[in-house]
Amino acid sequence: MRPLIAVLVGLFTCQIAIFLTTVFLHRTLSHKAITMSPGMRFVCRLLTWMSTGIRPREWVGVHRRHHAYTDIQGDPHSPVLEGYWKVQLANVALYRRTAADGVTVERYAKDLAPDRWDKALFDRSLVGLALGIGLVFLVFWGNWEMTLIVIGVHTVSYLLLNSAVNAVGHASGKRPYTGLATNNQWLAWLTGGEGLHSNHHAAPTSARLSFATREIDPGWWLIALSRRLRWLEVRHTAPRLARGATREPQAA
Ligand SMILES: [Zn+2]
Ligand SMILES: [Zn+2]
Repeated sequence: MRPLIAVLVGLFTCQIAIFLTTVFLHRTLSHKAITMSPGMRFVCRLLTWMSTGIRPREWVGVHRRHHAYTDIQGDPHSPVLEGYWKVQLANVALYRRTAADGVTVERYAKDLAPDRWDKALFDRSLVGLALGIGLVFLVFWGNWEMTLIVIGVHTVSYLLLNSAVNAVGHASGKRPYTGLATNNQWLAWLTGGEGLHSNHHAAPTSARLSFATREIDPGWWLIALSRRLRWLEVRHTAPRLARGATREPQAA
């Protein structure tokens, strides 16, 4: 029974990290589809640091490069170029290779130059992760076995789901818009809406990733609630298609 609880807690903390990734790293920082209040932005920075260890400007740099070179030479993690399984299973290695190339972050994340909080805290990924692990350890009253299960489930599921957005999201599913990106509602349920990836590539500045009634974007629920609480503003409510993006005529 107790290991099952640890597995469920690991899946829950993974979903917290997934929502931070889609709402904060992706929709807010990378595409500026959302403007957060300073308080919410700081909480998101803190929780991203403790739950993923990701440096936001690196994630943003790699991601903007993906949009600049989608599925052509220069894309950091295209299944068309690298093969599906390499992206699905080795996405972290591809991410690290691009984030550390000395060019991508400097060119694509100029607006996120390190501030005093980054220098003091948030650039120290291992410190953030140690704090996150310490928090889980405290919640489980110093039980290392439970802590390790939570951390293991959290880490594996987070990495596999993020990889799936890059791998499945450019390999299989519906393609309502031009390009190879796809919509998969099952993946959207697991990734806070990111599975609606064809929609996202067609309208990257849209805070909402669901465009049709049968599409569901769980990340939008959090955004809509936060908006009602005046913690954030969205750039525009109706999706605006990027230049060159058109709806494919054969799609329903
Ligand atoms: Zn993509
Ligand atoms: Zn994007």
